[in-house]
Order: sequence, then C-alpha cells, then structure tokens
Amino acid sequence: MRRFLAPKHGHARLLVSFLFIGIFSARGQVAGSHDSAFIEGLKKQALAAVNSKEKSVQEMVDMIFSFGELGFQEFETSKYLVSVLEKNGFTVQKGVSGIPTSWVARWGSGSPVIALGSDIDCIPKASQKPGVAYKSPIVEGAPGHGEGHNSGQAVIIFAAIAVKELMEKNHLPGTLMIWPGVAEELLGSKAWYIRDGLFKNVDACIFTHVYGGFATRYGDPGYNGMVSVQFSFEGEAAHAAGAPWRGKSALDAVELMDVGWNFKREHLKPTQRSHYVITDGGDQPNVVPSRASVWYYFRERTYPDIISMYEAGQKIAQGAALMTDTKMSYHILGAAWPPHFNKPLAEALYANMKRVGMPAWSEADQKLAHAVQKLVEAPKVDFEDGSPIDGLKTTVDTLKGSVPFSMGGGSDDIGDISWNIPTVQLFYPANIPGTKGHHWADAIAMATPIAHKGSLAGAGAVALTLIDLFTNPGLVDSAKDYFVHVQTKDVHYQPFITGEDPPSIFLNKAIMDKYRDQMKPFYYNPAKYKTYLDQLGINYPTLEPTTPVK
Ligand SMILES: [Zn+2]
Repeated sequence: MRRFLAPKHGHARLLVSFLFIGIFSARGQVAGSHDSAFIEGLKKQALAAVNSKEKSVQEMVDMIFSFGELGFQEFETSKYLVSVLEKNGFTVQKGVSGIPTSWVARWGSGSPVIALGSDIDCIPKASQKPGVAYKSPIVEGAPGHGEGHNSGQAVIIFAAIAVKELMEKNHLPGTLMIWPGVAEELLGSKAWYIRDGLFKNVDACIFTHVYGGFATRYGDPGYNGMVSVQFSFEGEAAHAAGAPWRGKSALDAVELMDVGWNFKREHLKPTQRSHYVITDGGDQPNVVPSRASVWYYFRERTYPDIISMYEAGQKIAQGAALMTDTKMSYHILGAAWPPHFNKPLAEALYANMKRVGMPAWSEADQKLAHAVQKLVEAPKVDFEDGSPIDGLKTTVDTLKGSVPFSMGGGSDDIGDISWNIPTVQLFYPANIPGTKGHHWADAIAMATPIAHKGSLAGAGAVALTLIDLFTNPGLVDSAKDYFVHVQTKDVHYQPFITGEDPPSIFLNKAIMDKYRDQMKPFYYNPAKYKTYLDQLGINYPTLEPTTPVK
C-alpha cells in the first residue's frame, strides 16, 4: 500500500488508482519491453563497465585529494571535473547560483531526470600524506581532505559514464544530471541551488558521501539542520592606553555575546549544537577594536527549533551591542535543513549495495586501518549501533529507517534538496571507521587503495540503481508517492535563506591564496606516476615515523 497511501475517501482512492494505472499503461510500452532478463543483462554490463574504470576512479580520487581546496575555492577541482565531463559528452553549465566553482553537467534527453551529487571541498589545516599513520603534512598548515570529499565525484561520474554508454547502446530515454556540493563544510551551496531552481523537473537525486562503511537509510537519519550566521559589531577606535574612555570596543561586544550565548546554553534543548569562531578580533592591543565579528553555527533537529535559536542569537547580539554602545549587523553565511531520505529509493539502492558487496581489503589496508584507529584512540564500538570498530568493515551495513530519537549532531545541506525532490544518500566505504571527522587523520586513507576500492564499490551501487531508475518507471513513481504522501504530508519546506541572500563566495579566499602556490608542486601527475602514493614516494602503509619515507 505504500504507493497508494493517504486518500481516506473511496472515490479519491479510486481516482488515484486510475491515475496511477494511467501512468503505468502510458509508460507500459517502454516498461513492458524491459523484461527482467533484459534488465539483468544491463546490470551485468553496468557492473562490468564500472569495474573497467578502476584506473580512472583511482586517478580522480587522487587528483582531487592533491588539490586540497576549501569551500568556495574549488577552482582546480571544478576545472578538472568539468574537463572530464565534457570529454565524456556531457553539456556543462558553469557558475550555477552565482558560485564561480559551481557547475551542472547534463546528458541525455527526456524523463526520468536523475541527479547525482557529491561534495568537493576540504578541511582547514588537514594537509596529510596519504598512507602514513602519523602526523605528516604535505604542506604544513595547509588545507587537506580530512573528511574525504575528494572521493565522491569519482563515485557518481564513473557510474554515470558506465550507464550513459548502455543507454546509448540500448536507446534508453532519460537524463543524467551531475552536480557538485560546493562548500559543504560551510553549508554554502545546496539551499541556493534549490532557491535558484536547479532541481526543477528533477525526478530523483542520488547523493553520495564517504564513510567507514557501506550504508544507506531512509526517513529521518537524526542529523541536525542549521543556520550559519556572522554577527558584526562596529564601535570607535581610540588609543587603548591614552584615551580608552573615548573608545567603544567591538571586540567587547563579541566577547559579551559569546558569554551571553554560553549562559543561554543551559536553557536550550539537549539536541542543540552551537559553536563559534571569532573571525575578526581587532588588529593590535593598543588600538580599541572598532570592528569585530563572530561566526556562529546554530544547529537543532527541526526547522522551528533552529529558527528559535537563530532569534535567541539575534537578541543576545543586540544585548551585547547595547552594553558596549556599538552597532550590530548579521547575515546568513550558510544553511541546511535536517534531511529526510526516500524509502523506495533507499530500498532499491540497498539491494544493489548488497549485490556489489564490500571491497576485498588487503592485509596492507587492514594494517593501516588498525594503525589509524590506534592513533586517533578510536572507540571500541560504534556510538550509534554498538557494532565493533576493529579495522575496515567486511560486511554491508543493515538498511535502517528513521531514528526513534536523536541527540542531534552534524548537518548536511543535502537536507534542502531532500525536502524538494525524492533523495537518497549512499555512504560508500572509502574511509576508516572510528575517526573523529574534520581532522588530518581522516585524510590518511583518502588517496590509498582503501579510498580507491571503496569509491569503485560505491560507483557500482550507483550504476545499478541508475539502471533501476531508467528501466522501471514504477520505482520513480513510488519514490514520488512516498515523497508526497509520507515525507511531506505534515512537514513543509521553508527556506532559511531569502531571495536576496548571496552565496558566501568570499569565504576561504585568503587561506587558499596563502597556501595554493606551496601546494601546486604536489598536484598529482598521472602521466608520470601510477598513483599519488607513488608520486609522494610513500611505502604503503607507513606505520611508524622510523620507517623511512622515500
Ligand atoms: Zn561531508
């Protein structure tokens, strides 16, 4: 009954049933020609095609790792990805939503239109040599892929290329749309894509994210949504010793706001997460700071609770401005809805993940995993499900539904997309379980066989699910039906951003300007080196600092 949930009145139900019969029979001619033997044949060919792209997957994973670009500054990454997509027959539109590093690539025609997305940005101060189980930055202080976003585009692009070849050969209708999660760490792009209509007429979205396991789930995964807000204060400069009574300190306002917020914490729900950094604290101690800014992430489980935190933050900022006789202004830098994932899509994807199975890890892979788990003092069991953390996982996770209760946690702006079109998230096994996240140690596996094999497995699962979506109109229909009658029955998307909020494309520019020239000599050169490990002269795995690194 999943497909025909909701209507309470007999007539309505009858009408809905007729409508669906109409859709099925209209597409019946197409669907009818796809008997199960044909689909099975396509799936075998799709998997073989993905596996034949093993070398290309490794090159893309290693290449993006070597670029190590922060959110909104993914210029090399996007230039490279666009060139690969154009070479493979995709039409690419650049600068989506006024974001210079964004683009969307399309191929094919007609319906269904299936969007494939994955993030591309990295983490500040996370530069790290791959395959080395102790701190050893490639460029000291530079950004690096300490989250693993370097791997996701290979998952979707090589799945799409494999399926595109089969669609061409078999004259299958449908459109592939590939897009990058720009500045995911800043929750900086996806709400803007939705606002600007990028996903209009898209039937379903498969989003992929690196993980220490092979997993997907439907319903509410228990994440927090959030708003990212910068509060700025303007006061009066003065000689900090000669005439401090003539100054109005904007830094005082920032500090008082932070103190106020930290008192407020006691009266917030335990599901909240809030944190801040002072992005401008003045210039030097002998000048009363005339300008200062503090940047907050306000995270909660639901839209009303996020708005309530946001409003509380504004009041505290106003209070700090009153206390210091300064002027306060604020603006949104990023936003994310708490996501909800589609059940029929997750079920289809999960069946394909089981078919692909876990990668065959080598002894070297497991040695590195154990060394990294020791290095980061990984917990012995998983926080959520109590499963043991002991090396790399060897089985596909179980398919999970909505969390019964969540204590809150991280956010992903895929939430905004998930409330606008049926969306599923694939976690593919390209990193080591038990790490902290957003840390240089999370980069260690990300240009090694662990990331290469995990990304290839992910690409296999995406390719098989694309075959399902392009050959089975019933799957697209049931995904829409769940979206309309279950997911959005009572909850309606209201964006956190307005029509005027610009994307925060200035963020991270200064950091990348500082490090880019030092990082360039370490960009991966696949023409000369088989792998990035080879280019850096790293013995895989290097477990102890005493082991000579060539
Ligand atoms: Zn991420």
